[in-house]
Parts: sequence; C-alpha cells; structure tokens
Amino acid sequence: MPPAVLEFRGVVKRFQTVNAVDGVSFSIMPGEIFTLLGPSGCGKTTTLRLAAGLEEPESGEILLNGMAVAVPERRLFLPPERRRLGMVFQSYAIWPHLTVFENVAFPLRVRRESNEAIRQRVSRALESVGLGGLSERASTQLSGGQQQRVALARALVYEPPLLLLDEPLSNLDAKLREQMRFELRTLQRKLNLTVLYVTHDQTEAMTLSDRIAVMHRGCFEQTGTPGEVYEKPSTSFVGDFLGRTIVIEATLRRATGGQWVELADGARIAIDLPQLETLRDGAAVRVSARPEDIEILPEAEPAPNQIGAIIDQVGYLGDRFEYHVRAAGALLVLSA
Ligand code: ATP
Repeated sequence: MPPAVLEFRGVVKRFQTVNAVDGVSFSIMPGEIFTLLGPSGCGKTTTLRLAAGLEEPESGEILLNGMAVAVPERRLFLPPERRRLGMVFQSYAIWPHLTVFENVAFPLRVRRESNEAIRQRVSRALESVGLGGLSERASTQLSGGQQQRVALARALVYEPPLLLLDEPLSNLDAKLREQMRFELRTLQRKLNLTVLYVTHDQTEAMTLSDRIAVMHRGCFEQTGTPGEVYEKPSTSFVGDFLGRTIVIEATLRRATGGQWVELADGARIAIDLPQLETLRDGAAVRVSARPEDIEILPEAEPAPNQIGAIIDQVGYLGDRFEYHVRAAGALLVLSA
C-alpha cells in the first residue's frame, strides 16, 4: 500500500489556555477528499494550518508522503514553502491588478520557472478548471465563481501532492456554491487529487467527501464515510450536528420475551440493540431518530411502534410541509 499522503499522529496545538487541536490522529490516502466538519471554533482551520506548516504543533507528529515534516520532540519543522502544498482559503485572494494568466502563473514565477514551462503549466491548470479562453481577462472582470476557479487553478498549477481547501465556497451565493461543489468533485476525480477540506456546512461535507471527521473542541468525535457518520452517529453531538435528529426521553423496559422503551405517555417502541443488554430494566434512556424515518399517519387504533401525537402547526415550504408535532412530552419537527 502507498504511504498516506498526510498523516497526523497525536497532534496537539495550544493557544494560551485553549487546546485548539487536542491529540488528533488521521491519515489521508491518495485520491481521497477528507473533510474536517464541525462548528465554529472546533479546530478545523488550525488542523489545516498545521498540515500547511503555518502553525507548529506542541507535540505529536505530522508526515507528508511518509516523510516527517513536524516532530517537535526532534525539533523538526518544515516551513510551508518546503511542503509545497496547494491552498485555497475562504477569501480566495486573487490579485485584481493581474490578469487571469498572471494570477495563476504567480507561484511558478516565484519558483523562477522558465517562460515556456510557465505557459504550458498555466494553460493546463486553466483548462482543467474550465477557464481556458479567459487567460488574458483582467481578474476584476470575472464572476465570483470564475474568481474561485482562478484561485483553484493557482493552487493546482504546480501539481501539489495535497490540496488544502478552507471553506473555499463560502463566499459564493447558494446556487453557485451548489454548482461549484459538483465541479470540484468532478475535477478532483479527473485529476485524482488528494484533498484536505474544511467546512462547517454539512451538505457540502456530505456531497464532496470520501470521508468526514466530525470535530468538536479540538478532537475528532467520529471519522467515517458520509453514510457512516449520518446513519450511525457514534455520539449525540455527531447526530445533532449532521442533519436533524429528534430526541425523546424514555425508560428501558425488559421482560421475558423482549425489550422495549416506554415513552412518557406509556407508548411502547420495540427495539433490538445489543448495546442495551448491559442496561437494567427501568434505566432512563434517550431515543433518537432522523425525522425522515418517521411517518405521519392519520389517527387510528394504536398499533406496534406507533405513538399518538398532536399537530401544533403546519408550515408550507413549497416542496414539502413541515409539521410541528407534540408527542410523548416532546416537541418534534417532521416533514411530509
Ligand atoms: P471557524 O469555523 O470559526 O473558522 P475553526 O473550527 O476553524 O473555526 P479554529 O480557527 O481552528 O476553529 O480555532 C480553534 C480554537 O483556537 C478557537 O477556540 C480559536 O479561538 C482558537 N485560536 C485559533 N487561532 C488562534 C490564535 N492565533 N490565537 C489564539 N487562539 C486561537
């Protein structure tokens, strides 16, 4: 197996009293989009800056293609220019006084490459992001999406082993953001790019990523494919952060012939989860579910796994109705 393109081993980064990154370990394999997802302040950007060499860790190890680039214990630290990674940040910072071509050529000029090599590589990078015909355009005459593509081409121009993207779409309007998400995914597959992606937007994370790490207070709460973290959240934080969950307080009941949870109004829901075997009869539990897994039915004779509910409010959202429902002592928001 090839070495991971990027590997963190127990990396810690502190700012005064804050553990911004608190013992984080992960590997990104070639051709993978690995996304750090979490709320503001959870340590996503700091993790990305550690990979770039813009921050030095307090402890742990960071490796690029199997080579150590930051190991404080050995006083080893490679600065950003020696890691040669491509980066695009939220404020994609293209230079307004330069043409599209010169914006993308900039990193190559800094590296003093020949004019011929620059011409070839810039053309290739612009073609790959669909800006082939615009190389002589002033960068101020571009739309937001086109400027974003220039920033991407500039990050790709020297074919970096790893692309670091920090909220690269957040300055675009909603429609364009959606389109760019798909374009980015297509481009990543076409060029087989390896990407560390930072976002607080769960839709972006779900549609773009091969794997997602959900971050909370400097730690990884859960790492997995979008399907794994959505379908099987390992903590309630992950469940709440990714999509909506509804939570109902309940009591575990166990008797010969089965186990079930009993809700505040006495309704029963049969469950079959091995991890509940360790709990005693009468233990307080929380039942959580995705709203889309709950069906709203007209009132009828109670049947297994149905609970009585009262609709408080109905909102019309164009493609669906949103129901505010009171059931078993909880207020739930469901769609239908
Ligand atoms: P956001 O989505 O808001 O950018 P984030 O998840 O990227 O948030 P970080 O920017 O990595 O979070 O910040 C993690 C923690 O470290 C926060 O508590 C932040 O206030 C703190 N922090 C980050 N940079 C510094 C700094 N240069 N000096 C002091 N504290 C910092």
